[in-house]
Order: sequence, then C-alpha cells, then structure tokens
Amino acid sequence: MLRRTGEHQQANALDRSDVAHQKEGVQRSPDPAHASRRRARRRLPLCVALPVLVGAAVGAGVQLVALATVSRPGAAALAVAVGVAAALCVRLVLMLHDRARLGAALAAREEHFRSLVQASSDVITVCDDDGVITYCSPAVTGVFGYVPDEMLGRRITDLIHLEDVRDVHRRIAGLVDGGSDGTVRFECRVRDGRGNWVETESTVTDHRGNPSVQGLVLNTRDVSDRAALEGRLSHLVHHDALTDLPNRSLFRDRLRHLLDGRSAREHPVTVLVVDLDRFKAVNEAAGHAAGDTLLMQCARRLRRLVRGGDTVARLDGDAFAVLLEDEDERSGALDVAQRLLDSLNAPYAVAGREHVVGASVGVAFSGPNTSADELLVDAELALRAAKRAGRNRVEVFVPEMHREAVRRVELEADIRRALSASEFSLDYQPVLDLHSGYVVGVEALLRWNHPRRGWVAPVEVIPVAEESGLIVPLGRWILEEACRQVARWRRAGFEIDLAVNLSARQLSAPGLVDSVASVLRSAGMPASALTLEITENVLVDTEDRTLSKLVLLRELGVRLAIDDFGTGYSSLSYLQRLPVDVLKIDRSYISGIGIKPELTSLTSTIIRLGQELGLTVVAEGIEEPAQRDALLEMGCDLGQGFLFAEPLHANDVVRLLTERGLTVTGPASRSAVVEDDDDDDRGAEVVRLRA
Ligand code: C2E
Ligand code: CA
Ligand code: CA
Repeated sequence: MLRRTGEHQQANALDRSDVAHQKEGVQRSPDPAHASRRRARRRLPLCVALPVLVGAAVGAGVQLVALATVSRPGAAALAVAVGVAAALCVRLVLMLHDRARLGAALAAREEHFRSLVQASSDVITVCDDDGVITYCSPAVTGVFGYVPDEMLGRRITDLIHLEDVRDVHRRIAGLVDGGSDGTVRFECRVRDGRGNWVETESTVTDHRGNPSVQGLVLNTRDVSDRAALEGRLSHLVHHDALTDLPNRSLFRDRLRHLLDGRSAREHPVTVLVVDLDRFKAVNEAAGHAAGDTLLMQCARRLRRLVRGGDTVARLDGDAFAVLLEDEDERSGALDVAQRLLDSLNAPYAVAGREHVVGASVGVAFSGPNTSADELLVDAELALRAAKRAGRNRVEVFVPEMHREAVRRVELEADIRRALSASEFSLDYQPVLDLHSGYVVGVEALLRWNHPRRGWVAPVEVIPVAEESGLIVPLGRWILEEACRQVARWRRAGFEIDLAVNLSARQLSAPGLVDSVASVLRSAGMPASALTLEITENVLVDTEDRTLSKLVLLRELGVRLAIDDFGTGYSSLSYLQRLPVDVLKIDRSYISGIGIKPELTSLTSTIIRLGQELGLTVVAEGIEEPAQRDALLEMGCDLGQGFLFAEPLHANDVVRLLTERGLTVTGPASRSAVVEDDDDDDRGAEVVRLRA
C-alpha cells in the first residue's frame, strides 16, 4: 500500500527546495544532495569566526573600563554602555551558535530524507499546476525504465493511458481547486520506457504553498502484481471454472450495463436461455468427467455461433445464456436461436462414444423499460414453456407466460393446502376384457374439488405438483388411498387389479421402493395386483439408477406399464431393454382406427410387437364399438374408455363390479355383498348391494 508518512512528505518538500534552487541557478543538477552540501559548507566558517570576534570585542571593552575608571571618574557611563554592548554581543554569539547547530541538524535531516527519496521504490514526482514535471526521483528508472532527466519538462498526462486520463485530470483538478483536503489518490495505467502499460497507484499532495516545493508531489508505485492478482480473482468470481464462460452474475451485470446505456429508440436486446434436454442421462451413463467434456464442447459450439461482441454465459448445470447485442431484427435473433438448437442437437463425441442430448431454447426481447432481471426471467419462462411443450424447440416469451407462472405459484400453494385439508379424491376407470366385457381392473385417477375453482383437472395439478416436488407426498397419498380401496373390493371377492400412475419425480425420489412395499403391506394388497404406470417420455429419459429401481419394484412383484405408448419416441427397440409388463396404447392411436389408415396399421403393429415381447397390451380411450371390434380383430385383449365407463366414483365402481365384475367364484352375481369396512367416509357409506 501507499506510504503516506510525514517522512515521505518532508522528503518531497526538501527535495523540491533543491529544485527551486536549481531553477534560480543557471544549471539544473539532477542531484539535490550536492546543493545542500554546499549550503552546509557556507555556514561553517561563520560559526568559527563569530565567537573570535565577540571575544575580541569583550576583551577590548574590559580594558577600556579599567582605563576609564583609573583616569576619569566621569567615564563610568561609557563603561556601562560598553558592558551592555558586550552582553549583546555574547547573546548574538550564542544565537548564531544555535543557528549553526540547527542548520547542521537540518542538513543532517535533509540528508536523511533525501536518501529516503532517492532510495524509495516509489517514484516521487513534482509537477506544477499544468502537470509539467519539475522533479522526478531515481526510482523512475527501475519502475518505468526512464532516466529522471528525460522526465523533466514532460506533461504527466502524456504518460497516462487515454482511458484513464480523464479521471486523473478530474482528481488533480479537484486537488488544485481545493476540493479535496490536500491529497488525492488514483489508479491509472502509465506507459513505461518500452511502451508497455504499467498499472500504478498514486497519491498526490498539494505542496504549492510550501515555498521550498511549490508544486504537486506525486508518489507513484507499480501495482501490476496486485492488479494481476485482482484480475485473476475477479475472473474466478465472474467465470465458470469448467467452461471459462462468464457466469450468471457477470451475465446479469453485462445485461444491466447494456440496458442502462440504451435509449428506448434503439433496437431491442435479445436474451436466449438454453438448456440441454438429456444431459443428466450422459452424466449417469458415462460419468461426470464425460458430462464435463460434453458441457465444454457445448460451450464451444455456442461461442462459435455468436458474434464476438455477444456474451455466452453458463448459468448453472446444463443451462446457458446468450446475450445478443446487435441483432436488429427479431427474425435475426430467432435464426440465431434455431442455429444454436441445431448445433446443440448434433451428436457429441465423448470418450469414444457418441451422445445426442438435444436442447430447448427460451427467447426474450427487451422492451423500453425492461430491467436485466426481468429480461432474464422472461427468457427462463419461455424456456420452461419450450420444455413443457415437448423440448427440443425454441419458444419466444409472451406476457401470458407471466400470468401462467403466477397461476402456477398460486396453484402450488393451493395444492399444499389441499393435501392437509383432504380435498383430493380418486376416481377409478374400469379396465375391461374386450372379449367378455368383464371388469378386470381399475385405473386410479386423481380428482380435486377446489373450494373456489371447482374441479381442477389432473393435467393441471400433476405438472405443478411435479415441479414443486409436492407430487411425492401427493403420490404417496394416491397410492395408499387406491390400494386401501381396491384391497377392500378384493376382500369382497372381486378379482380386480389396480393401476396407479407414477410421475417422473416420484420415480427419481429416494425411498420409492420401500414406500410401495409398505403401502401394499398396510393395505393388505398383493403386489401382483398392482400395476404402476409410467409414461413413455419418462421411461425414455430414464437414467440407469432409475432403471435399477424399476427392477427392484418388479422384484417386489409389482407390474410396470408403459403409459401413453406411441407419444414419446416411438422406438420399439427400447421396449426390450425396459423391465415392463404392460403396454398401454395411447388414445391418439385408438381414435384414428378406421379413420386414418396409417394409425390403424401402426396400432396393429404395436399390438403384435407387444405380444411378441410377452407384454399385456391395453388400448386406451375406446369410445366407439367399431374401435373395440377392430382392436379385437388385431388381437388386443384389454381396453378402457368412455365406451365402457368413464372414471367413476368408488360407489359406482361397486355397482359396475356387481354387474360386470369377476368374483373368485366366477362372474359377479347381483347378490354379491360389498361391505365398506373402513371408518373413513371416503369410499362413501357402507355399501350393501343386494339382489
Ligand atoms: P392417463 O393416465 O392416460 O389417464 C387416462 C386419461 O384419459 C384420464 O384423464 C381419463 O379420464 C381419460 N380417458 C379415459 N377414457 C377416455 C376416453 O374414452 N376418451 C377420452 N377423451 N378420454 C378418456 P384424466 O383423469 O383427466 O387424467 C389425465 C392424465 O393425468 C392421466 O392420463 C395421467 O397422466 C394424469 N393423472 C391422472 N391421475 C393421476 C395420478 O394419480 N397420478 C399421476 N402421476 N398422474 C395422474
Ligand atoms: Ca395412466
Ligand atoms: Ca394413458
């Protein structure tokens, strides 16, 4: 740090006094010590001569008094006068002696401070009001590679970096105008003797009022090492260690800076937020080192596709952001977004293997008053919309996304409350044997009667519960409730199975297998009567760890179904890889039967393939007798849909089971008795069905 001791300041002042002397003299000497030594030499003879003179005067006076006293008594007054003169002379001699002593001490101190200035590693410069250098200490050679002499007469600002000059000027002007209390401090880049810029720190002290200095004294030191260290630290703080891209905080800073400096008339700033779609799977399958390599490749691809002035940042994990500064047209920005997407979709070669991960992109454009944080949030909302809309796409932010986000937040709070207020219930949609028309099972479906909004569809509830993690406690309740209910029907003699939907988050949450086992146990339900349905999309993205969970679930005796089959990647090859027992063909195929030939033949192919793989095939969403007939012809044995029954309240299921259920002894008769042995009201009143 800068030394601002009195010693230093005195050294400057003393040194400056030599400069003043040199100015008066004919020649400048770069060595101030020389002049000072001369002054000291001039004072010495005086010190010796004066006591001699005074001694002589006193001696003469004493002799005069003695003579006068002897010869003329009236001369006494003269003697007194001479005595006073002698006393004065003595005092003068003593004063002169003191001065000589002080002078010598001062000279010694001058010497001391001068050597400090000379030996100081800081460069000490004196300049006048106009910034013209009048003295420069020898340290300038070591620090900047200049000879002190060549500095004299140059303007300080000529050596300072153009970008820093204005600030330096402002600060020195403040000092000169008396605005700062005698000292200012600044940092600037100074050009050294080889033309390189050196980071420096200076303290300027106003010594213009000091007659021996008459100027501004600058104490300057090289802070390159410190600046380099600070630079490295700042880089670390603002960049991502893996990809070396700016991080979220630097991205936000740049965005803020850019938006602050823009007028409303200028074209908008574009922010793209990019998120890899299946990065986790790479991490899982090939390890974290491979995942890191992939992220680095990804960063390079993004950088390559944007202009030099644009910013690419890594926000976190597998999320990146791009700031486009000079894309005049929205269409241009969208082109960039599409190109990014295409580039990220291309396979990555990592550790000898190819990985395809894909990406989703959210785009937001700044308005006249958009803040940096708002713009980033907008782009992230658009990204979320892209993910929800099926990934691998670009979505542009629209204000509706904000309203949607607010609605979701409210819904989340409502779900939390509804869980403890027991507002949820279940309906059961029967699954039938298409040949006999008997009910062989039910699928539990969530229902929510919201006190204000009325019935809220599961397609609204489930995604919000998923995102917030609430699906884990909610899913546990669904499983418990459904198992309890179906176990009761089974105890009443109905041979039915239960299907429960399982979401991705539930699957990845810890403790799933244990939780399922304990629910089955306490409900008294055989594991073989339970099928867990997982949508095709979730299964395709499944990581190895989750796959092993599926295996454990099957080991419990639980069956697994692929739900909504045909809506995901429609690749049949992975069917062999997955530990599943049931394949549920999505309603979109069934509704096309007899209408769209390609859907009809695809349905037929899926049924055949499923059977070849030993899977039970269930057709979903059968609404027409013709669809049922066609499915039967294709060899599909099981189905569900409005043709047979909509999802039903538990009481209605009992009625249907009594009509079209299978009991342990065969088809249910109308004399079957179902007793609801639960204390809980849910499942309705005690149901007794008699003939
Ligand atoms: P899903 O698992 O495919 O459930 C079948 C959906 O199709 C149900 O919609 C059902 O009412 C409807 N459906 C059944 N037959 C027909 C038909 O013939 N025609 C038409 N148009 N629709 C039919 P719902 O109950 O609205 O559930 C929608 C989705 O919400 C479910 O699709 C499932 O993915 C999810 N879901 C429902 N309940 C739960 C749950 O308890 N847990 C989880 N994780 N997801 C659930
Ligand atoms: Ca389902
Ligand atoms: Ca389904």
